[in-house]
Order: sequence, then C-alpha cells, then structure tokens
Amino acid sequence: MKTLLFFILIIFVYFIIKFILNRINQLKEESTQKDAPLMDPTQMVICHKCGVHIPKDEALILVNSNDNDETKYACCTEHG
Ligand SMILES: [Zn+2]
Repeated sequence: MKTLLFFILIIFVYFIIKFILNRINQLKEESTQKDAPLMDPTQMVICHKCGVHIPKDEALILVNSNDNDETKYACCTEHG
C-alpha cells in the first residue's frame, strides 16, 4: 500500500513539475513576443559626413567602390 501511495505521489509531483515548466515556457514566449517590437525599433544610422543620426529608411545609402565593405549613409544629397 505504501509503494502505491509513493507511486501516486511521484506521478503527482511529475505533473506539477510539468505544469510549472509549461507555465514558465508560456511566460517566456509572452515576454519575447512583447519584447519583439521593442527589440526591432527603427534602425538609426549615422551620416558619414556630419555624424547626424537618421532613420535607416530615410538615409541615403552610399555604395562605395572602396575595399571596405562598410556601408556608409548620408543625411542629405549634399553629404552623399
Ligand atoms: Zn550629413
């Protein structure tokens, strides 16, 4: 009889742990979903001439023929 009770207790504990782990995973997923928009704000780039910060989608992308692969951005056509 004692072994049966012990067995039931183990199953009970197993399900509690499983429930807790599921809950933790749920909370993690919720927090990552909440963080996702914050983690991907409008990317800011720096004008290579005046150093002003501009949103990447508004910046002028300069294709440089130099050896370095670093992409340069400009705030306006004058700095382009
Ligand atoms: Zn500039």
